[in-house]
Amino acid sequence: MRKNFLGSGNDAFVCENCKLTVRPLTNGSYRDHCPRCLYCKHVDVVPGDRLATCQGLMEPVGVEYSPKKGWMILHRCTRCTELRRNKAALNDTEADDYELIIALASSP
Ligand SMILES: [Zn+2]
Ligand SMILES: [Zn+2]
Repeated sequence: MRKNFLGSGNDAFVCENCKLTVRPLTNGSYRDHCPRCLYCKHVDVVPGDRLATCQGLMEPVGVEYSPKKGWMILHRCTRCTELRRNKAALNDTEADDYELIIALASSP
């Protein structure tokens, strides 16, 4: 789906919220959020392009389940309040914290 961006942007990064070093996904897709606290950064205009100038920390505010795509995490930027959906990574060696996703799903 995002194979065009392979090689650019799929690098390890340090989570600005919990300081975890986040390694890239091994299944070929693009990691855009922290598996431990689910925060991400507002760095993309189109997922993977790293063209956004905001650079704000994006907080996980909810999750949605899509029958086609699976769990989608809803992120809101703490700087510009933009909302964005990101696919949860649950089948990777460093999978997202499922408990956290369930907790988000059951919060109002
Ligand atoms: Zn984190
Ligand atoms: Zn932003």
